[in-house]
Amino acid sequence: MAIDFTPDVMVCGAGCAGVVAALAAARRGAKTVLVERAGFAGGIITTVGLPFFDGIARKVDRKIVYRGIGLEFLIKMGVCKPGDDTVYAHNPVIRSIERFKILLDEMVSSEPTLQVLFHSFVAGVTTKGDRIDEVIVANKGGLQRFRPKTVIDCTGDADVAAWAGAPCETSPEYMPLTLHFRIGNVTNTPDLRQKARDVVVAAHKEGKLKNYYGPGMSFMFANDELYFHAIRVKADPLDPADLTRAEMQGRRDAWTMYELWKENVPGFENSYYITSGPYIGIRESRRLQGQYVLTEADIKEEKKFPDAVATGTWYLDLHPNYATTGSANVKPGGLGGLDGYQPDHYDIPYRSLLPKKISNLIVAGRCHSATRLAQSSSRVNATAMAMGEAAGTAAAMAREVKKSAQELDGRKVREALDQIHAGPFNG
Ligand SMILES: Cc1cc2nc3c(=O)[nH]c(=O)nc-3n(C[C@H](O)[C@H](O)[C@H](O)COP(=O)(O)OP(=O)(O)OC[C@H]3O[C@@H](n4cnc5c(N)ncnc54)[C@H](O)[C@@H]3O)c2cc1C
Repeated sequence: MAIDFTPDVMVCGAGCAGVVAALAAARRGAKTVLVERAGFAGGIITTVGLPFFDGIARKVDRKIVYRGIGLEFLIKMGVCKPGDDTVYAHNPVIRSIERFKILLDEMVSSEPTLQVLFHSFVAGVTTKGDRIDEVIVANKGGLQRFRPKTVIDCTGDADVAAWAGAPCETSPEYMPLTLHFRIGNVTNTPDLRQKARDVVVAAHKEGKLKNYYGPGMSFMFANDELYFHAIRVKADPLDPADLTRAEMQGRRDAWTMYELWKENVPGFENSYYITSGPYIGIRESRRLQGQYVLTEADIKEEKKFPDAVATGTWYLDLHPNYATTGSANVKPGGLGGLDGYQPDHYDIPYRSLLPKKISNLIVAGRCHSATRLAQSSSRVNATAMAMGEAAGTAAAMAREVKKSAQELDGRKVREALDQIHAGPFNG
């Protein structure tokens, strides 16, 4: 099948932000290429196995704050119905990760101007003046060179932005990486959770587990199947060797927990380890330092921006790198106990998706331009999707009006989003 090497829009990373960005751009008629390192779209939801849509609704009354393609996903997954103003929780869950993969396959395949390349890693860029000239992709075709009009970086790690020379920020220490895993054929008992916790706490004291959370377990997908977000690995996700170590450590820790529970906790006797990952989850790495840097003060004051293109509503949610059985156990003032402030809802401006230097680049998702604490809220899934929708819409508009993403007026992007009911929440 012929590949379009000169698309209008190239979206790097088909995660929460990226898949929505590509759909939004293609729906406006832009010739779009979506490139993803995995063999499927969905990012954290499918690469890590995380079914939550945090940020879709505000906490106080579960009123939906983002009504675009992200909500369409929830409707198509049967979580809510068209026209609903509220959803059953502020962090609703889809019940099948595998069904979600297929839904995304169907949605991207039904856009005639959208081409998807899985198993394709964005590996580099070249620049000319203030523009990205080429995006270099490594896949089974070798090193392929694309020359898109506009690039959208939805890699989560701001790979494209950093390689193009756009200023980005990193942190001296990152939130822990987490491998999610599932254990089947478990019999629930009244003290299952407590016993599982006791085993993990003891293993930590004995040095068998360096770190853990919770064990963060729930019967999420079936009555006899446990889903865990118990793993915590301190690592630098931008260091390839350390990321490899983190994957191995996460797998080892998950298996250690499983073996200990099977041996020591009634209810786990006949259990079996279903799956992990397939990737360890990364909460933070690079953040763009763009035209506007969203701050925790903006979130707390719920500052209004004329160029608002997305709405956030999640709390300031920094996770610690030490062992904890739950939030009550987080040390005040320490990483993870830093804040926890719960906003009602707040604006995310178009300028926080724009780099300072590169005129044909938009950055959406967890690596958009924000302070570390602000990003601990704006990084969540549905908010990343809302940013992706804004980025895809803007990239298509840039082509229509023959301007660069940078020259576009963010207020016009907002108007375009409002017209398709995907604009920021008005209260
Ligand atoms: C362990 C963990 C638990 C979390 N819990 C929740 C939760 O309960 N609820 C919630 O809403 N949010 C949660 N979050 C936060 C949230 O999931 C992410 O911040 C969100 O996925 C951000 O979306 P994104 O599109 O920026 O990144 P992602 O969804 O991670 O998408 C990035 C995509 O880019 C691809 N990619 C990366 N680099 C390249 C490259 N160079 N070339 C090609 N493809 C590339 C990746 O494979 C991936 O598909 C959690 C995060 C983690 C790590």
